[in-house]
Amino acid sequence: MTTAGMEVTAAPWADGVPRYFAIEDPLDPAKVSYWYRPTGGRHAGAFTPWPLRRNTWGALYRKDVPLGADARTYAVEHFARVARARQDAEREIDRDPVAAAQRFARLAIRCCCCGKALTDDRSKVYGIGPECRRGAAPAFLALLVEQVKVAYGGTASTSDRLGSTPRAGSR
Ligand SMILES: [Zn+2]
Repeated sequence: MTTAGMEVTAAPWADGVPRYFAIEDPLDPAKVSYWYRPTGGRHAGAFTPWPLRRNTWGALYRKDVPLGADARTYAVEHFARVARARQDAEREIDRDPVAAAQRFARLAIRCCCCGKALTDDRSKVYGIGPECRRGAAPAFLALLVEQVKVAYGGTASTSDRLGSTPRAGSR
């Protein structure tokens, strides 16, 4: 383990930066929400619900508008709420990005850096695939492993409910 994180031989995304996250859904605490924040390319810095396609997070359907409510007014309020929830989500992730990334990997069984499906057990434990692991800084990997302990060390039934997952300061 030397300066592997600095090598450019790995895939371009393999720099140990998590891009995929899972947190409690700010719009519905009973659910989990998935997020994607690319660090490169045209959409760098964008913060968007995942998966990118077929995602309905924050969508408003006609059936959601309460009877008798003015649809236009309701929509304006709804999307203001969605905008605030999106900000809340990003703040929540930034509070502990590695925990949110590890949670994504665990729930989606995908690499938290490149989003590819994880197949081997080691990758699943780390939450990061072999290619991204190669390019990741040892300190980042260590944090990921620590989060595995957080995830599995306490109650075993936290796999799909985040409400009981230890929060900030539990690292
Ligand atoms: Zn990856």
